[in-house]
Amino acid sequence: MDFAPTEAQEITRKSVRSFAEQEIVPQSRAFDESQEFPQAWAKKMGELGLFGVFVPEKYGGSGLDTVCYAITIEELSRGDASAGVIAAVCNGLVCEPLLRYGTEEQKRKYLRPVARGEWIGAYALTEPGSGSDAAAMRTTAELKGDHWILNGTKSFATNASVAKVVIGYARTGRQKHEISAFIIPTDADGFSVLKKEDKMGIRASDTVSLGFDGMKIPKENLLGELHKGFNIAMATLDGGRIGIAAQALGIAQRALDESTKYAKEREAFGQKIADFQAIQWKLADMATEIEAARLLTYRAAQMEDLGRRHTYESSVAKLFASEAAHRAVDAAVQIHGGYGFIKDYVVEKLYRDQRVTEIYEGTSEIQRMVIARAVLGK
Ligand SMILES: Cc1cc2nc3c(=O)[nH]c(=O)nc-3n(C[C@H](O)[C@H](O)[C@H](O)COP(=O)(O)OP(=O)(O)OC[C@H]3O[C@@H](n4cnc5c(N)ncnc54)[C@H](O)[C@@H]3O)c2cc1C
Repeated sequence: MDFAPTEAQEITRKSVRSFAEQEIVPQSRAFDESQEFPQAWAKKMGELGLFGVFVPEKYGGSGLDTVCYAITIEELSRGDASAGVIAAVCNGLVCEPLLRYGTEEQKRKYLRPVARGEWIGAYALTEPGSGSDAAAMRTTAELKGDHWILNGTKSFATNASVAKVVIGYARTGRQKHEISAFIIPTDADGFSVLKKEDKMGIRASDTVSLGFDGMKIPKENLLGELHKGFNIAMATLDGGRIGIAAQALGIAQRALDESTKYAKEREAFGQKIADFQAIQWKLADMATEIEAARLLTYRAAQMEDLGRRHTYESSVAKLFASEAAHRAVDAAVQIHGGYGFIKDYVVEKLYRDQRVTEIYEGTSEIQRMVIARAVLGK
């Protein structure tokens, strides 16, 4: 594998970093405080083609590779992790399954507007009683004439109160894995947004629970084959985890950048704190782990581009990058001393934003299960 960046990857990094620094960073703290969805960021990200990075141009996307996608999420998250997750869900959890499993008609009707940035998309797998054990979901879908009727509740759906389309899952048979995937227009009868969560971090991203109350969607909105939705959900998460690894990477890089700057300015005992070996070693450990996380993330992305299965590589990348980011934000707060604990300094926010990268799209425990299964050849 070749990890020297292509010209397109270099341009992507430069342009997304400049967008994030100019348009996201200045408003980041205000959105964190208000917990308001940043419509202006979403509009601009959509216009820049950041919602359909790897979607072919014929379906309205930017036609770039998955490494460019990882770089996009990394650079957005370096600016603000909420911007990163808004885009990661549109790309990885909405465009990806539509591109891979959708019919031409579904691609025209639902993939194109998301990839073009005209619509926001969401993904609803988790339920109040089923997160890690997603196949234990209770939402049901029943075919009645020309429509599917869905009943149930979904929780923690990112982007869902502002989305036009949701990729949702429901039980279509009695066996545990008889689950199907559906394309749900959010103006469907019986669709409702129930509760907006008040979160520790990534507060500008929208996280809501959804009610499907006799919700009626057209028969042709089944995505992929009947009863094969669980496979679609898992394959989608293989790609989605590249996005979360990249998000963690962006948060960790920002923690290192802020810490480096601060260490060169702050003085104690008559010298810059950057001159203390204790601080230098923290910075060196952060840099080393970030480099390793970056290579693991790009390797998983390259495997996706090569059309190779990457369940193991995505889990390794997500697990390592999220836990490396945990260590990085912790060290960043420590380097900032008391100032790391107050909201005037961004490391306080990075510390909160990072935490979810170890939880969503499979907790660290679930990643270890996936990795161990591969190691043991199960
Ligand atoms: C901000 C945010 C945004 C989210 N966005 C989305 C979204 O857009 N769409 C969506 O569908 N979901 C979303 N989620 C849900 C998220 O994916 C789940 O919260 C996550 O998968 C964990 O599920 P759970 O919360 O039910 O925890 P549980 O599954 O109840 O787990 C609780 C604890 O038990 C551990 N555990 C569970 N099973 C095992 C096991 N077999 N072995 C060892 N330990 C185990 C877990 O690791 C965890 O530590 C989001 C969550 C958050 C917080």
